[in-house]
Amino acid sequence: MSTGSPVGSHRVVSPAGSLPQAADRLDPDPEIKDDEVRVSVERLNLDAASFRQLHTKHGGDGDAVRAEVLAIIEARGKMQNPVTGSGGMLIGTVDAVGPRSPLGLKPGQKIATLVSLTLTPLRITDRLERWDGSSEQVPAQGTAILFGRSIAAPIPEDMPEELALAVFDVCGAPALVRRVVSRRYHSAPTVAVLGAAGKSGSLSLAAAKDARAAKVVAVVRDEIEAAQMRRLGLADKIAVADATDPLHLAREVNEALHGRGADVTVVCVDVPGCEHGAILSTATGGTVVFFSMATSFPQAALGAEGLAADVEMLIGNGYVPGHADYALHLMNAHPRLKELFNTRIGGRH
Ligand code: NAP
Repeated sequence: MSTGSPVGSHRVVSPAGSLPQAADRLDPDPEIKDDEVRVSVERLNLDAASFRQLHTKHGGDGDAVRAEVLAIIEARGKMQNPVTGSGGMLIGTVDAVGPRSPLGLKPGQKIATLVSLTLTPLRITDRLERWDGSSEQVPAQGTAILFGRSIAAPIPEDMPEELALAVFDVCGAPALVRRVVSRRYHSAPTVAVLGAAGKSGSLSLAAAKDARAAKVVAVVRDEIEAAQMRRLGLADKIAVADATDPLHLAREVNEALHGRGADVTVVCVDVPGCEHGAILSTATGGTVVFFSMATSFPQAALGAEGLAADVEMLIGNGYVPGHADYALHLMNAHPRLKELFNTRIGGRH
């Protein structure tokens, strides 16, 4: 048994020299190197932006969505949507652990991978036949490979797997929001969360509250989501606006904050086109956290320049130390968050 590269470069088929995330194709061979772990896959969680793109492209035809997901995995040796570039994550049972694996996992352990599917070698063996193509969560059978530098978390025993998977998928958002809000501002910052009724959005609201933001504004797209926000009880103000309509969005955020932009704006919407609205909604000297994978770097950078907006812009790195535990802590602290997640896990029809 030979040792692999801790970052998985030995699994890259093409283009040579790239890291797994940027690769077109990975080798998903279930045979492991002595620092790898093989996981017996039970469920994939497709990233929201990726699932929405596929669902929209196929007009809601679940069979067509399933066929395309299978075709992507077979062609690429991983689940990375070629349009959105995003993946998701998975849960499964540890099947084999190489003797030099540093991850501390044991065969038989039920885990969620906390590294993206975009760099996880994946082979599907059941043609996804138990999935109707209508939800982000995909019951699946197959194998996935973790490298020396991958991360994984045991599934908590007191939480249903589907819920844990959905929470872990977006757990980078609340941890980053806590970090940004807790920075030493001269006074506690105001926070606006776009897409607040979604998974990363609602966790971000909870994190902003937990980090003692001065005021938290939940921006949602319609009255149904506004009612969900009232029930959740984590926002000081609720604004209904289309996050892709920059002027309307900025007006609503300003109104909620008595004529000022937000000190911190968090973009958790799963559709493209929110960059300019987020920038316009942010106070001078404030920070925009782009957690959404549908964010365009040129739109954000050129948009801020074109608006002469002096704002800091952060890409929502999905990894922040302690992110999984922090997200679980928030879920346990707010039972209504669990309710909201459970309503979202059901699927898009
Ligand atoms: P989600 O649960 O589907 O939430 C998205 C929310 O945005 C939903 O409430 C949705 O409303 C709302 N929305 C959609 N279009 C809108 C619009 N035009 N105006 C206002 N609100 C709108 O998604 P999620 O799982 O939290 O993911 C959010 C984003 O984070 C995605 O882009 C995903 O790819 C990204 N993500 C990033 C990372 C990372 O590491 N950075 C990790 C995971 C996910 P409806 O449901 O009514 O459409």
